[in-house]
Amino acid sequence: MVMLIDGRVIAGKVYVDLRREITQLKSKGVTPGLAVILVGDNPASSAYVRSKDKMCRDLGLHSVKLELPASTTQAELLGSVKALNHDSTIHGILVQSPPPEQIDEAAIVRALDPRKDVDGFHPENVAKLVIGDPSGFAPCTPLGIQRLLIENKIQIAGAHVVILGRSMIVGKPLALLLMQKNKDGNATVTIAHSQSRDLEKITRSADILIAAIGRPNFVKAKHVRDGAAVIDVGINRVEDAASKRGYRLVGDVLFDDVSKKAGAITPVPGGVGPMTIAMLMSNTVKACRQLARGGSPEPPAGD
Ligand code: NAP
Repeated sequence: MVMLIDGRVIAGKVYVDLRREITQLKSKGVTPGLAVILVGDNPASSAYVRSKDKMCRDLGLHSVKLELPASTTQAELLGSVKALNHDSTIHGILVQSPPPEQIDEAAIVRALDPRKDVDGFHPENVAKLVIGDPSGFAPCTPLGIQRLLIENKIQIAGAHVVILGRSMIVGKPLALLLMQKNKDGNATVTIAHSQSRDLEKITRSADILIAAIGRPNFVKAKHVRDGAAVIDVGINRVEDAASKRGYRLVGDVLFDDVSKKAGAITPVPGGVGPMTIAMLMSNTVKACRQLARGGSPEPPAGD
């Protein structure tokens, strides 16, 4: 019988712990603050920003939603980022992706104060992830996936983890997290991508298979070893005339097929998605803690 990995339940546990920590910080006169900058009016981005703002408010965080017109210039956006870098009520900043095409996103990320880069995309945080410095910020989706595995007691140490996809948002940082030499890592990690040969052979050797490719229902039972844990990161819109919205969301994994063979599986929606926002809140509280200590790093995680 396959185990359903419920991201909503695990995210709920994360929020219980965060609420306790937020109360403690507030009792010391500090309220963690998150600023989200949205440039333009992309409907999907607006929806993401609204849900981040709502979650901040639910948790009692200070939330700033900066909505800038689609015509915003690079210099104007840089000005907003720099103002937030210097705003002591703000501990986490993110610029919702994708920005309009006149914006050089990499330059904007480099302009963020790395101590407030709760998305974990600043080169300083990428470097900290590579060297295993726990004061850095890892990207939220990989952190959420790691937490899902831990909370569901799916053994990471010694496991062969195969990740489909090598993006800087999911695949690469996830590989780094799961191969860290610490109690939450120690996996043997393989990354596959669109140029990989013998994909089925690679995926069938996985104890944990993680799909992050953005291809609806790509992973089938034939890709999966009996009893493997399958984590579906994909969020894809497919046309659905029967739905009021005219589309429905599916993952990168053909759920009904794969769940007959896997030992554990995440649904879409309700798997990785809720964990991404939970980890954003968690990174914001971590940034607040670290900044309140004068920017000094977290004590090293116990091995
Ligand atoms: P991305 O930047 O487009 O990267 C996709 C990766 O998949 C690339 O490395 C690509 O290979 C690889 N790929 C594409 N087709 C492939 C194939 N047929 N076989 C093997 N590899 C293939 O995507 P992303 O930003 O990482 O996102 C991936 C998916 O996760 C999307 O559906 C996205 O919406 C979803 N997502 C979900 C969350 C969440 O919170 N649940 C967060 C982030 C992303 P190449 O490098 O060779 O092109």
